[in-house]
Amino acid sequence: MTPFELEEPVLLGAALALLDPEDSSVRAIAGGTALMLMMKSGLYRPRRLVSLRKLAPALDGVRSAPDGGIEIGAMVRLSDLRRSAVVRAAAPVIAETLLTHSNVRVRNVATIGGNLAQGDPHMDLPPVLIALGASVRLAGPGGERIVRVEDLLTGYLETVIANNELITAVIVPPQTGWRTAYAKVTARSADDWPALGLAVSVRVEAGIARDARIAIGAATETAMRLPGTEALLAGRAIDDALLQEAGRAAAAEAPVVADHHGSASYKRVLVAVHLGRALRQTIAGAER
Ligand SMILES: Cc1cc2nc3c(=O)[nH]c(=O)nc-3n(C[C@H](O)[C@H](O)[C@H](O)COP(=O)(O)OP(=O)(O)OC[C@H]3O[C@@H](n4cnc5c(N)ncnc54)[C@H](O)[C@@H]3O)c2cc1C
Repeated sequence: MTPFELEEPVLLGAALALLDPEDSSVRAIAGGTALMLMMKSGLYRPRRLVSLRKLAPALDGVRSAPDGGIEIGAMVRLSDLRRSAVVRAAAPVIAETLLTHSNVRVRNVATIGGNLAQGDPHMDLPPVLIALGASVRLAGPGGERIVRVEDLLTGYLETVIANNELITAVIVPPQTGWRTAYAKVTARSADDWPALGLAVSVRVEAGIARDARIAIGAATETAMRLPGTEALLAGRAIDDALLQEAGRAAAAEAPVVADHHGSASYKRVLVAVHLGRALRQTIAGAER
């Protein structure tokens, strides 16, 4: 491995100053679970790593917001997120998703900030956070900006985060009236990387889907919403025929790609089947 600098700032401003807007080989390191794999494989050769560990007190914790939403510090570890009573009360689908996320060794060090910044389409949380309408707080030398998770991820391992910006928190808005479910479909064990991740949020009144947010990951180049399928559901009475129609529409709309988890045609069948199942869960009130 080529030698590199390791900095451990204790203040956010110092961390931002150590990043280099012109040099993507200077990066933050949080849990290191994704970064170390890329370094070991030679995919990434750092000039400097800026550890966020000593900033953790400022970027830690899960807080209830006055509007009923929650704010999750970027350095919150996935295992703490899974156990958080605040998360379980406000958005239990996040905690449930983490039950089959990787393994306890990874969850004990991986952070939510690193999870989103990596921009890996195979991650479980991005579609869930998109369906929940979540945003991230980004800090940079010029101040702060808020970006919706659905706008954060732009392609395979690509995000809108500038080289000298850091995610400081994830904001989940209040979920009053919404129900959310996540279908993780793996080709091997339940805690493997997903072949398909499908998150569905619906606001149902008297059997009618008033609003829907549907997000797909793993089967596509990046996690994304399926607006055509969302529009098809809006204002319709939910019955078996609609669920099947929505499944077919999502399979046609999603720009599915083949990878070592399965062919594109296999994944389209998964989308068609699991969208109906996930919707049925939300309607039954069995929020996962
Ligand atoms: C064995 C294994 C199994 C896995 N299985 C799954 C799975 O089933 N499902 C799943 O979804 N994922 C899985 N993962 C992926 C795992 O979720 C990610 O590796 C992890 O979430 C990344 O977080 P981290 O804190 O370790 O990030 P790091 O590795 O520290 O960083 C990742 C990237 O994010 C950047 N970064 C980190 N923090 C910030 C920040 N606050 N602001 C801006 N940029 C930042 C870094 O510069 C780097 O580019 C698995 C990983 C492993 C190693």
